[in-house]
Amino acid sequence: SLTLADFDPELAQAVQHEERRQEDHVELIASENYASPLVMAIQNSVFTNKYAEGYPGKRYYSGCENVDVAERLAIERLKALFDCDWVNVQPHAGAQANAAVFLALARPGDTVMGMNLAQGGHLTHGNPSNFSGRHYKIVPYGLNPDTGLIDYDEMERIALQTRPRMLIGGFSAYSRHKDWARMRAIADKVGAIFWVDMAHVAGLVAAGEYPNPLPHAHVVTSTTHKTLRGPRGGIILAKGQDEDFYRKLDSAVFPGVQGGPLMHVIAAKAVAFKEALRPEFKTYQRQVVTNARAMAAVLQQRGYRVVSGGTDNHLMLIDLSAKPYTGKDADAALADAWITTNKNSVPNDPRSPFVTSGIRIGTPAVTTRGFGVAECEQLAHWLCDVLDALEIGSDERTTVRDRVREQVANLCRRHPVYK
Ligand code: PLP
Repeated sequence: SLTLADFDPELAQAVQHEERRQEDHVELIASENYASPLVMAIQNSVFTNKYAEGYPGKRYYSGCENVDVAERLAIERLKALFDCDWVNVQPHAGAQANAAVFLALARPGDTVMGMNLAQGGHLTHGNPSNFSGRHYKIVPYGLNPDTGLIDYDEMERIALQTRPRMLIGGFSAYSRHKDWARMRAIADKVGAIFWVDMAHVAGLVAAGEYPNPLPHAHVVTSTTHKTLRGPRGGIILAKGQDEDFYRKLDSAVFPGVQGGPLMHVIAAKAVAFKEALRPEFKTYQRQVVTNARAMAAVLQQRGYRVVSGGTDNHLMLIDLSAKPYTGKDADAALADAWITTNKNSVPNDPRSPFVTSGIRIGTPAVTTRGFGVAECEQLAHWLCDVLDALEIGSDERTTVRDRVREQVANLCRRHPVYK
């Protein structure tokens, strides 16, 4: 039989190079992780061939008895993982889960409050270039510029003034706990629906390492591929609401924003949720937070400013606005030393989102490959070495880059991602 290398050598080589890159470089992008071999294997199954519009037991196509097993397993495991009474495992990704919530619970033109993208929110929480910002009247909330912490008093003041239909909790770049109870109280004061997008911290929540939004929120969305370490995908969860509310959400996913579900991915979600229910997953998530704190401490010792003064989760933002280089420069220099991060706006960033004055780093991926505190501290020092070198001459810069790249590659070799 024809191999991919025979049939499509260009593509086969790209996969091979990507395998090498993932093994040899350290991955500090806070939203990335390495799915397990079982999660990857089932996505390569015959489930990919099956159309299954509808929900288990109520499909529009015949022959769904086996994919129904997969979806039911995913549903039951996800409910157990987050102790909730209703879930939808069909969203193709986080953005689709969020689109379904907008469609189900708000009308175009409604006022919706979400966290400012430039201060840690996500595109789908109301950025003008996203459907959310185009179809809804978005009122952003943000951080106290002095502390880097969410300003709940200001959030409440804005909510009372604008009376939003929905209040969105959740973030892509905030390193502290969010006060879900306070946000629910604010939502209740103005009769708003409280929706939490826990995409970044879902794994930590499942393991009890981050406050669970489900007891407070009317509805919760998430991705499955970040800290939760599953396949790329989205989910919606809720607890204690009525059947009509759940029916609205189900019909917003299908037929509202999607057609046929990706059954091979839903099966992979079922595998990932089973993995997440095991005690080892709790140990992993605890280590993710411990590693992030260890990295933040080294960065601060070395004179780098961490927004909000530290981290309580898997990520942190390094504020480089006092430096003579940009977030984009830092990102490129680190990538050159095989340390993958992303440039990120910091609170009150004077630069555009394409340039920025910060970088975001996170520990889910390095922790999956077995880095503990010692490795993370070492890594933070190397990261500082590369950034320090941006303030000296280009010859020294190259020397530091070469040295760090070799150290990174050696460390990675001792901790292979896929054995
Ligand atoms: N919500 C949050 C908070 C995110 O950080 C992200 C992705 O970064 C998403 C939603 C979107 O997820 P996806 O990229 O799967 O559409």
